[in-house]
Amino acid sequence: MAIIIAFTNTTMKYPYSLFRTSFFTLLSAFLLCFSSCVREGKTVETQSPVEAAIPVASANTDAAIPAPDSLSLQAAIPAGPVQPAAVVANSVADAETIIARKQVPILCYHQVRDWREKDSKQAKDYIIPEERFKDHIKMLADSGYQTVLPDQLLAYLTTGAPLPEKPVMLTFDDTSLGQYTVAAPELEKYGFKGVFFIMTVSLGRPNYMTKAQVKELSDKGHAIGSHTWDHQNVKKYQGQDWVTQVEKPSRQLAEITGKPTEYFAYPFGLWNPEAIPELKQRGMVAAFQLADKRDPQDPLHSIRRIIASGYWSSNSLHRAMVNSF
Ligand SMILES: [Zn+2]
Repeated sequence: MAIIIAFTNTTMKYPYSLFRTSFFTLLSAFLLCFSSCVREGKTVETQSPVEAAIPVASANTDAAIPAPDSLSLQAAIPAGPVQPAAVVANSVADAETIIARKQVPILCYHQVRDWREKDSKQAKDYIIPEERFKDHIKMLADSGYQTVLPDQLLAYLTTGAPLPEKPVMLTFDDTSLGQYTVAAPELEKYGFKGVFFIMTVSLGRPNYMTKAQVKELSDKGHAIGSHTWDHQNVKKYQGQDWVTQVEKPSRQLAEITGKPTEYFAYPFGLWNPEAIPELKQRGMVAAFQLADKRDPQDPLHSIRRIIASGYWSSNSLHRAMVNSF
């Protein structure tokens, strides 16, 4: 519009020929049509109402749902008359609201295999024997739990979208093979879905999953997230480390699954607030830690999980879930 007004003023100030005036009129009309067509096309075809509400300066333009603190409720309400329900669905809660919502229990498993003699006492927290794992999953199913995936969790946290009555999220870190050979089939018996956080350096190595297995999990409806390239502590990253540990693995996983990589699990559960903008810039819409307090400014990038220890009976697991979330 600014261009058109400028042209109009010019034609009024100076005695242009009829030809030139017509030319500018036509040019103005063309510009007006062109800009409105482009805008209309984008609104209708590529932009969801939530995306439309993302401020231009937002670092993470790929993410369907912006960080809650980058968006005021006012900005999220589309112009013009809307139904009350549409306003609720398109609004993204602020950090305080997200923190106030009841947390969904999220369990973190590592290796699913029987203990070996050389496994240390500490390692056994991270290695769950097959039968014990099966007991955990059976207990969850028998108790009426239903698994939820990160997209559902995010919708719940940001918009209040409903979840099953007893939701639980089952996450698996580090790419170990038992997750594919033992855990996934066990989940599938009950119609459960898991979230697999892949450390890409180990893909195809002995006792780890292959790319084809990761693809198969994704195709079956399990979620695939990033757990860095080789499991370095996020708090120590500088410059190029973000490319090596987050950007490249994220791209590789997207190539394997054919889906965007939008979820991240911090190695060792270690994180700091400085890491969050770096992750957002690289398309991560949520990130999972372990049992620390959440970031009051960005609870979506400090979602809590507990390690489901290899020592825990299904009763201990249930008690921990109730007490920790
Ligand atoms: Zn890990």
